[in-house]
Amino acid sequence: MEKFFIIANWKSNKTTDEAIEWLREISKIKDHNLKIILCAPFTALYPLKLLIEKSGLPIKLGAQDISPFPDGAYTGEISARMLKDLGVGYVLVGHSERRRYFGETDIQVAQKVRMALDFEIIPIVCVGEFNQFINILNKLETKELAKIIFMLEPPGAISVQTGPVGQGEAESVQNVVEMIKKMKRFTPASNFFYGGSVKSHNITNFLSQPEINGVVTGTASQNAQEFIKMIENAAKI
Ligand code: PEP
Repeated sequence: MEKFFIIANWKSNKTTDEAIEWLREISKIKDHNLKIILCAPFTALYPLKLLIEKSGLPIKLGAQDISPFPDGAYTGEISARMLKDLGVGYVLVGHSERRRYFGETDIQVAQKVRMALDFEIIPIVCVGEFNQFINILNKLETKELAKIIFMLEPPGAISVQTGPVGQGEAESVQNVVEMIKKMKRFTPASNFFYGGSVKSHNITNFLSQPEINGVVTGTASQNAQEFIKMIENAAKI
């Protein structure tokens, strides 16, 4: 059985050639029992899908966003059905960067969760703090909540928001564990991830906690060698 989830969120980075090169480097990792999800930009999903299928790599594809609407007259949007067609099994919803730069609201987050679930894509719902978590809970039904994953991403810990890219400080492990324990009292959701400046030197601090089922790594994941180190360190736990 897979032990933990490790999610790479490349954010708005990598051309298709760069994406394929990253995947080729990652394919050198030896056996591990981790569940790796790659949240790539929309433009890289199809070539990545082909390469993952061809090489049999144990990596699942994720998206970084999803339309709150079905197929239709919504120019520029990528619908759940289109993502499903590309082999996407997971999607980040309500990432702090979507809220901050694109004004995404909790209502839209709930619509996106619903669209994803309709197409059996698992939403990884990002929450920065407790009140935001409660607001989202109030907009979803219990049967929906049972299927989603929550990702705690305290805004001050996301690396690009705290100074030079890649220089951010992760939240303290103790704070993350306490916050997740508190959230668990209010929802049937059973998987909780942490995201915010996770790198190879601190990944095991988070994953060795029973309350944390996975980590999301943004800036650090873009470098294949650093990502390989993260996998290797996590596999030793
Ligand atoms: C993220 O983008 O979800 C994230 C956790 O970013 P970073 O690792 O760069 O803080």
